[in-house]
Order: sequence, then structure tokens, then C-alpha cells
Amino acid sequence: MNTLSDALRQNVPNSAQTPARAPAPAPALTPISATLNVAADFPILARPVHGRRLAYLDNGATTQKPEAVIDAEARFYRESNANIHRGVHWLSQHATDLYEAARGTVQRFINAPRADEIVFTRGTTEAINLVAYSWGRAELRPGDEILITTMEHHSNIVPWQLLCDHTGAVLKVVPISDAGELDLAAFDALLTLRTRLVAITHISNALGTIIPVAALTASAHAVGAIVLVDGAQAVAHQKVDVQALGCDFYAFSGHKLYGPTGIGVLWGRAELLAAMPPWQGGGDMIRTVSFERTTYADAPQRFEAGTPNIAGTIGLAAAIDYVSAIGIERIAAHEHALLVHATAALAAIPGIRLIGTAAHKAGILSFMVESIHPHDLGTILDAEGVAIRAGHHCAMPLMTRFGIPGTARASLAMYNDETDIAALVAAIYKAQDLFGTRRPAA
Ligand code: PMP
Repeated sequence: MNTLSDALRQNVPNSAQTPARAPAPAPALTPISATLNVAADFPILARPVHGRRLAYLDNGATTQKPEAVIDAEARFYRESNANIHRGVHWLSQHATDLYEAARGTVQRFINAPRADEIVFTRGTTEAINLVAYSWGRAELRPGDEILITTMEHHSNIVPWQLLCDHTGAVLKVVPISDAGELDLAAFDALLTLRTRLVAITHISNALGTIIPVAALTASAHAVGAIVLVDGAQAVAHQKVDVQALGCDFYAFSGHKLYGPTGIGVLWGRAELLAAMPPWQGGGDMIRTVSFERTTYADAPQRFEAGTPNIAGTIGLAAAIDYVSAIGIERIAAHEHALLVHATAALAAIPGIRLIGTAAHKAGILSFMVESIHPHDLGTILDAEGVAIRAGHHCAMPLMTRFGIPGTARASLAMYNDETDIAALVAAIYKAQDLFGTRRPAA
């Protein structure tokens, strides 16, 4: 394998070794780009990178923010900033109203039965840790089992490992097929009366696989287990209705939903939250404090110690309003059409291997390009203005399952279109030229 530096040092297509073929024709333009046409709402997409038009395809890591979200946060600081739940003064009441209104916006977005089931967190990671720490330490005993899957993100693995270390509970892992689909027979076999918790991703961040959460939840409930869903990759890409899913906890991050960083959500069933002890102590989560005995506020305040990311909740609500105005079903349809288009465009490149070919997939394309390390590929694509992610995607056990160090990953959002995919394809050919590995199409 050539190294990246070898190829870049030569800085010319290594075409002496491989006969160059005519540049790949740009994928035929379909009307996908016309279906939403929202890129103009996202100011950052207009900035060139390395002098090139930016093709931002790293949406699985974080999405870009529309003007409406940027404005909402700025407006909060300009017009409404004060601490919440504390002040008697007008601004504090006003900020509190906005903060609690954001809770209602989230509630309606995921069809939660009650607003007080919405706990604001820093993100998915903190939401899962909250459940592991609070519910897990109170509930689990040695020999109890937690069931996860091979395709989980580290943030839906490590908190459970920490919990198992603490409680003596045992972590079980459901295997997946070569296509990246959950082995449903193995799931059924691993689900027993010892299973107390099933913690599953809704959509795999590294494979794009969509998990049949409602069916798995029904099975889990049949053995008395509760279900936590990691929705980090789902909320921005398909309709999430926690009542239809039937799960018990649902976690997601604002920044993957066109909202700000540092804000996320744990939805939990009211009766579960009511029984859970606090996990962080401090201001705002108490009812009374004395040196002898402290009593705690009800959920959700019990889990929101300290000054929260108030502006973040305002930005998150603005993001939800933005997404809702466009329509999550329209977004899902647009991204699905683009996924089909991009899958065909990538599959046509000789030397490419797609990792994750499940029948039900969201807009995530993980791939390997023969003889080019994913990090080298990512660097070359970046020079072409194409932003993708390369590496293990915080899913090292999944990479081990496939026997690979990592993948290159293009992940789609509502503002992407065929132009971005054409830029991706052209940049991959460029990388193959640099490495001298370009082959004629079969
Ligand atoms: N779960 C999944 C499936 C993810 O993709 C991510 C983010 N890559 C996370 C959890 C963690 O999200 P955050 O870093 O926003 O807490």
C-alpha cells in the first residue's frame, strides 16, 4: 500500500502504473436536489473550504445550523438572558418561560405523553450515563443482564460496562450479519428473564442500519426488561414517536438535529423517572436542604442540577420548529432518494467496498477504498472540499466485527444533493489517481 505522503509527494496521478480512464461521468442529475432545496438556509454551506465548494457529508458527527437556530440563540442572549427557576425579576421569569416552552416543543416533537418526562442533558452521552447511574445503580443486582448490540456507539457501551463493574450485572451482545443487520434470532435467544435492560441504537451511526425498535421493545417487555433507545442518529432523519415505539427511555443530541452543541434530551416514562434517585447534586434539583437531610425536586428538575444550557434549549426548540416546518417525512424521503443515488454512485467505483448494506438503511454510507487507508482518503477528500469522517466512528467493537481498522463515512442531511455526491465520487477517483490504484470500470 502506498502511503499518503508518498502519493502527495509525487503530487501527480500515478497513471503510469494504471491506465487512466476518462473521468467518471457525473451522476445523472435527478430531481432530488429540487425536493427540498434548503441549503441557502445554512450560512456555513456557502463558505469555501480549501478554495472549493464545501460538500459537507459529515452529518453523522454533527449537522450544520440554519440561520433560524443561530438567530434564536443570539436573540436569547440579546433580549432574554437571565438564570432560570431562581429569580423573582421579570427577565428571569421570561427566561424560565422560554426554557419550559422548549421542553414542550421537544415533548410534541417526539410525541411524549408529558412535558415533565423531558430531561435536558448535554447530549445523548449524558442522557445514557444518567440512566446508567441513576436507574442502573438503584435497580441492578449481580447476575442481572443488560443486552446491547454489536453496532452500538461507545456511548451506548461504556456506561453499561461501568455499571456492570459497579453492580455485578452482566453485559450481553447481540451479533449482526455481514450486511450489518441485527441477528433477530440471536436477540430472541439472548433475551431471558435475567435481562433487565435492552439498550439499542435506533440507527447505527457507522452502518446506517435502521433497527426495528418497536418489535424489539415488545419482546423485551414480554420478559420484563425495559428498553433504552439511543436516538442520536434517528431524530433528524425519520419521525420519532416514543409512544409508537413503546420504549422506556429515548436519548438524543440537539447538535445532530440542526441545533446547538451541548444540549440533548433524555425522555423517560414518568413512572420510571419518578422512582429514580438523583445522580448529580446541586442547585435546582432539591426541594429542601439541611445538613441533616436533603429532599429532592420531582423529575425533570431532579436530574437537572446546576444552571443548564438555557440558550441551547432555545436553539434546540428553534431547530425543532425549523425541521417541523419543512416536515420530517419530506426530509426522510429526500435523504432516502439521495441514499439510493449515492449508493449506486459509490458502488460503481472499482475498488470500493460498502460496509453496511442492510435492507432498511438511513443516509449513512460507510466504505473502504482498496489500498487507501480511510484517514488518507479523508485527507485527500478534504483537499477537494469534501468533508467526510474517517476512522472507527466510536464503534470499535463493530470495526473488529468486520475485521477493519475503520471506514470512510459519508452521512447525509436534508441540505445535501447530487452535487455533493458528484464531488465525493470525483474526489475518490482523485485519491485513486494519487495512489495509482484507479481501475477501469468493469
Ligand atoms: N450514539 C450514536 C449512535 C451517535 O452517533 C453518537 C454521536 N456520534 C452518540 C451516541 C453520542 O452523541 P453525543 O456525542 O452528542 O453525546
